[in-house]
Amino acid sequence: MTGVPARAALPETEAMDNRNTVWRHVDAQKERLIALSDRVWAMPEVCYTETRSCAEHVAELRHQGFRVDEHVAGIPTAVMGEAGAGGPVVAILGEYDALPGLSQEAGVAAHRPVEAGGHGHGCGHNLLGAAALLAATAVKDWLAETGTPGRVRYYGCPAEEGGAAKAFMVRAGAFADAEVAISWHPASFWEVAPPLALANTRADFVFTGRTAHAAAVPHLGRSALDAVELMSVGVNYMREHMPSDARVHYAYLDAGGIAPNVVQARAAVRYSIRARDLPGMLGLVERVKKIAQGAALMTETEVEVRIVSAVSNLLGNDPLEQALHGVMEELGPPHFDEADRDFAQAIRATLGDGDIDAAFRAIGMPRTEAPLADFLVPLDARRNPAIGSTDVGDVSWVVPTVQAHAPTVAVGTPFHTWQVVAQGCSPAAHKAMVQVAKAMAATAVRALTDEGLREAARADLARRVGAGGYVSPLPAEIGPPLRMSVA
Ligand SMILES: [Zn+2]
Repeated sequence: MTGVPARAALPETEAMDNRNTVWRHVDAQKERLIALSDRVWAMPEVCYTETRSCAEHVAELRHQGFRVDEHVAGIPTAVMGEAGAGGPVVAILGEYDALPGLSQEAGVAAHRPVEAGGHGHGCGHNLLGAAALLAATAVKDWLAETGTPGRVRYYGCPAEEGGAAKAFMVRAGAFADAEVAISWHPASFWEVAPPLALANTRADFVFTGRTAHAAAVPHLGRSALDAVELMSVGVNYMREHMPSDARVHYAYLDAGGIAPNVVQARAAVRYSIRARDLPGMLGLVERVKKIAQGAALMTETEVEVRIVSAVSNLLGNDPLEQALHGVMEELGPPHFDEADRDFAQAIRATLGDGDIDAAFRAIGMPRTEAPLADFLVPLDARRNPAIGSTDVGDVSWVVPTVQAHAPTVAVGTPFHTWQVVAQGCSPAAHKAMVQVAKAMAATAVRALTDEGLREAARADLARRVGAGGYVSPLPAEIGPPLRMSVA
């Protein structure tokens, strides 16, 4: 017979005991980790500057008795905590970076910044990191209680928003001996996260020309700003001739100053270039580079291309998705109460009808009017998701990876908005955080005790990666963009 695992899965009664034990450990620690999430929410730090948020995670890891490695992959705000001995290694991934410009008070359904222009947790990573650490802590305590061989690792990963920290951590070998990776993301729904994310490169194009008095001697000037504008025109003409699921967007980093009477000698633009897979993305990056060179040629300026970061597309894993789905079905969605629904309803009133429609279209299910998700999205739902990018992509190429979504926000809340920040410490978000920690912890326990599942997950990954293997999208010469905000 083929397909028989090397060691059979545990009998169901024993597996259920394990789940109940690890869930008891989640409940025992949840208040500490909810408090951690709220503290991180209140100290929003962006892209590689998460010094205090990371220190909070380090302190909690030490308090819980993990063996702690700081400066993972040479990144000052990356940390890893390990517990247990021998056996397989299960990785649980957390994040704690915020977004610029999204400062917002908690618990109000109106746009009210705490600090004008300040940062905010607009993607819910305060919850993401705390729930992942809660799950890892419970698995640690379960390992200790049952004496099971195996290790759990919490990876505190900074700079998910544009910094590609996990891609650098993968390149440095931080996941080399992990057999399964588990994570989650705040969302509208209770579901296994669809394994779809675009490969993405961020690149800065810095043009240098020659300054001159724009009225007296314009013929002596060579405008870097002209070059940036021409590059944008070229890229916008390219759009019609690229795959329809590719995405290219840009932001001006430096428009050359505020004086129209000075020919701009320097200008810089940052591009984000995304495609369905790595070869598609790398091809598109080369085309954008050619357009930049064309703009430089037209304007007699020079262009320097600096790749800032890059991430791979996400690979799914059928056996792990089925395992996580089973646990999420058993747990059910978080138990929200009337007060949770009232606040979600107030947030919902600030959304457009299109936001709510889009959320249901993404999961391929008919729209309902409950303000907080109260069902599990089927694994085989006919989804039409809005697809972004994540640095979990790179982990998913080297370790079988699975992620959950838990409803921390009113259904339809678009991410990277003040509404997400406003809901980031709500009782509903805390309930979702604890429920998803239980889903991750039970999936980790299953992976630690079921060699057949690990083998099937490994085989599924090998099939998806194919003969070409994993090639990091990061150019060999670049390191983590620790000072990325500086052009
Ligand atoms: Zn996010």
